[in-house]
Amino acid sequence: MPLLYLPEFDLQSLNTLAVPAKARCYVSVSSEDEVREALVFAKQQELPLLVLGGGSNIVLGDYFPGLALHIRLHGKVLVDDGEDFVLLRVAAGENWHELVEYTLQYHYWGLENLSLIPGSVGAAPIQNIGAYGVELCDVFAELTAIDIASGLSVTFDKDACRFGYRDSVFKGALKDRYIITSVTLKLRKTSRLILDYPALREALAHLPQESLTPPRVSEAVCAIRRNKLPHPQTLPNVGSFFKNPVVSRAHFERLRERWPAIVAFPVDDEHVKLAAAWLIDNAGWRGYQKDTVAVHEQQALVLLNPGRGSGIAVWNLAQEIRQSVADRYGIDLEPEPRIYI
Ligand code: FAD
Ligand code: NAP
Repeated sequence: MPLLYLPEFDLQSLNTLAVPAKARCYVSVSSEDEVREALVFAKQQELPLLVLGGGSNIVLGDYFPGLALHIRLHGKVLVDDGEDFVLLRVAAGENWHELVEYTLQYHYWGLENLSLIPGSVGAAPIQNIGAYGVELCDVFAELTAIDIASGLSVTFDKDACRFGYRDSVFKGALKDRYIITSVTLKLRKTSRLILDYPALREALAHLPQESLTPPRVSEAVCAIRRNKLPHPQTLPNVGSFFKNPVVSRAHFERLRERWPAIVAFPVDDEHVKLAAAWLIDNAGWRGYQKDTVAVHEQQALVLLNPGRGSGIAVWNLAQEIRQSVADRYGIDLEPEPRIYI
C-alpha cells in the first residue's frame, strides 16, 4: 500500500494541549520501511519534519510548514528470557501506559512507578521519562533508530543515549537526527520496590509490608496521578511545563533564609534540586487564568489550555512565569516540552 500523504492536516486531536495547529502535510507510518519512504518524500519535497508520537510533550504553533510524521509502529518481542531478567523489545508507536500494564500482567517488574505517563514508547528515551524516583534509564537496555540523513538503522546502548535528568543525547547533540523505532527494556523477575516519594509511601502506608507488590504500587501511582493531574481530554496540558532546577547549595541557602518552606532535595554535596512547582506557586501563579490559558489549581507546574487556543498563548504564559521566577529567585526555569513556535 502506498503511503497516504494528507495536505493541510489538523493536528488539534494529536497534541494533548489541544492546540489548533495545522501541518502542511501529514503521514502515518507503521513500519521501518514506511519511515524510510516518508523520509525520502520529505527530502524530495524539502519539507522539515515533525516527528509525532502521542503529542503529550510538544507545544505547537499555529502552522507547521512541513511533514508531520506520525510514528505508529507496533509490536513487542521477548528477546531474552533469563533467570533474573527479561529483555523486551517494544516498537516505538506502542502506548507507554499500555506497555506498563502488559509488563505487570506478565510479572516483568520495573515500570510500576512509571504508570500512567501519557505518550509513546519511542518518545520515552527522548527526555528519559521519570516519575516517583524511577527513570527510563533504570530499565533501559538499548534502542534502534533510523538516521534521518542516511535512512540507515542504528543501535544505541545506554551510554550512547547519555541519559540525564529529563534529558538525553536526542535533546542535545543528536537533536532531530534520528527517528527511534524500538526500545528494549531490561525488566526484573524479582521485584524491587522504590517507595521514596512521600506521596507514594503515604498512599501505601495502610498496607502491610508483605502485601506490597508492583501491581499495588502501580495502582497507587495511578490513583495519585488521577487525583492530582488534570486529564488532557478535559483540561488540555503537557504535564510539567518546566524541569526542576538544580542550583548550588549556597544559592539554596540564600533562598531558604528568605523562604524557609522552600521545597528542595539534595542532588550531591554541592547541588540541590528545587521543586519548580513550589517556586511558581510561591510566586503567586497557582490558579491563574487569562483568556484561553491557565495554571493548574492543584499543581502549579502544569499549564493548561482550557480554551483550546493557540500554542503561542501557552508559550507567552510560560515566558511570563519564567521571567517572574527569574526576578524573584534568580533561577532560569528550563521548559520541559519541545517548543515548535
Ligand atoms: P511527543 O509529544 O509526540 O513528542 C515529544 C518529542 O519527542 C518531540 O520532539 C518529538 O519529535 C519527539 N519524538 C516522539 N517520538 C519520537 C520517535 N519515535 N523518534 C524520535 N523522536 C520522537 N513525562 C515524564 O517524564 N514523567 C511524567 O510523569 C509525565 N507525566 C505527564 C503527565 C501528563 C498529564 C502529560 C500530558 C505529560 C506527562 N509527561 C511526563 C510528559 C510526556 O508524557 C512524556 O514526555 C512522553 O514521553 C511524551 O511522549 P509522546 O509520545 O507524547 O511524545
Ligand atoms: P510531588 O510528589 O508533589 O513532588 C514534588 C517535586 O519534588 C517533584 O517534582 C519531585 O521531583 C520532587 N520530589 C519529591 N519527593 C522526592 C524525593 N524523595 N527525592 C527527590 N525528589 C523528590 O510531585 P508531582 O508533581 O505530584 O509528581 C510526581 C512524580 O511524577 C514526579 O516524579 C514528577 O516528576 C512526575 N511527573 C512528571 C510530569 C512531567 O510532565 N514531567 C508530570 C506529572 C508528574 P521529580 O520531578 O524530579 O521527580
